[in-house]
Amino acid sequence: MSRLVVISNRVADPRKSAASGGLAVALGSALRASGGLWFGWSGSIVEEGTPGEGSLHTQRAGPVTLATVDLCRSDYDSYYQGYSNGVLWPVFHYRLDLANFDAGYIEGYRRVNQLFARKLMPLIQPDDILWVHDYHLIPLAAELRAMGCTNRIGFFLHTPLPPPLILAAIPQSEWLMRSLFSYDLAGFQSDVDLMHFARYALTEAHAEQVSDTCFRAYNSTLRAEAFPIGIDVDEFTTLAQGEEARQMYESTRRDYGHRRLLLGVERLDYSKGLPQRIRAFRKLLTRYPENQNRTTLIQIASPSRETVRSYTGLLREIESLSGSINGDFGDLDWMPIRYIHRNVARKRLPGLYQAAEVALVTPLRDGMNLVAKEFIAAQDPADPGVLVLSRFAGAAEQLKEALLVNPYDTDGMAEIIQQALQMPLPERQARHKSLLAGIRAQDVHWWRNNFLTALQESRSA
Ligand code: UDP
Repeated sequence: MSRLVVISNRVADPRKSAASGGLAVALGSALRASGGLWFGWSGSIVEEGTPGEGSLHTQRAGPVTLATVDLCRSDYDSYYQGYSNGVLWPVFHYRLDLANFDAGYIEGYRRVNQLFARKLMPLIQPDDILWVHDYHLIPLAAELRAMGCTNRIGFFLHTPLPPPLILAAIPQSEWLMRSLFSYDLAGFQSDVDLMHFARYALTEAHAEQVSDTCFRAYNSTLRAEAFPIGIDVDEFTTLAQGEEARQMYESTRRDYGHRRLLLGVERLDYSKGLPQRIRAFRKLLTRYPENQNRTTLIQIASPSRETVRSYTGLLREIESLSGSINGDFGDLDWMPIRYIHRNVARKRLPGLYQAAEVALVTPLRDGMNLVAKEFIAAQDPADPGVLVLSRFAGAAEQLKEALLVNPYDTDGMAEIIQQALQMPLPERQARHKSLLAGIRAQDVHWWRNNFLTALQESRSA
């Protein structure tokens, strides 16, 4: 078996999986099976460092080697905050209005990808198979190829890929697409992302489609497929049975007594549709007043990228929308929205999922959305909660028995939330049963095995 080399912006210690989540578990178990190397940024920023330079640290974690590089302040600002999260993240989530194209971040993005390639190249062995993750590292394979790397290299995009004319607005879109063709395999979250890739490749890059899954352009052949990421259902079920989850469940039920709970859990991000959701909750309270004094929305918005400017305005908007609902509808013993701008530890989250009757997972655009899958995994099959899911989350392609909503349609979303609150037990059980079977069949191990098998086969396709 070839050794696996995983490259991602952040590196997780596979021995501390409970803190890092299902992806770390899945990649950790693949790395352990084949022996492996996990390479990425160390998380350290060197204030006075030289751009394009950074020390390499290596550490053993059982059979896995963790290799990480420090970044200097200006590389971090331009590569991570600037190009990755100020250009690619908004555009990939269809938000051209939030993208900052003019700040010259591209130089730092290229520089850090070159730095990663330079540090990684000496660590690669001839039979290694390389798996690069996410939008931070699109040009990494091209940089490695330029240094003579001939290993198989796969790329997986965890975010959505927008339609061709949105992608084309990025001044470097042609270069990004050319960079993608240095990989052997590109994986996307959903069929719609794959379709956007194919249309861009055919119309903008004048690629030739040489088979169902293979495209030829820039003198290279790239295999492209959709591999929807799953969760580790067993790992999550174990977390759900743990002490922290039980305490969370009990304290939530105790604090909210006879109230019916709606729950939202996400990073505070403009892609997650939080203001739209809060407006739909207001509509629910006015259109169906029986929910007043009876229904509480717990909204966890964990802090994320708060130094990026577009996030500050969002924070204020959410606070103001929640505050006005609490002022207009609340009572001495009832606060309609509990908005919590704090991270909830992963071990405690299943307790919250279990205490809620309805999960509101209503992003405006999302690559997949793992919270939707975790909510399903945490439910009691005998008395399960209902998942309200945005049709614009990648997960909606798989989770068809959820109640699908258009998050821009405030009235429609209020209707669907009411339907969720009133859903009879047999219907809740039937929907949950097939949702659970789906996330079990297509879990994170299924995702990883499919991707790695396709990567192994990519050159003979
Ligand atoms: N999460 C968490 N604590 C929080 C909020 C989120 O542990 O307070 C975890 C959540 O359990 C999930 C992940 O963060 O595993 C979010 O993944 P998702 O795909 O839903 O969204 P992303 O943040 O990747 O856009």
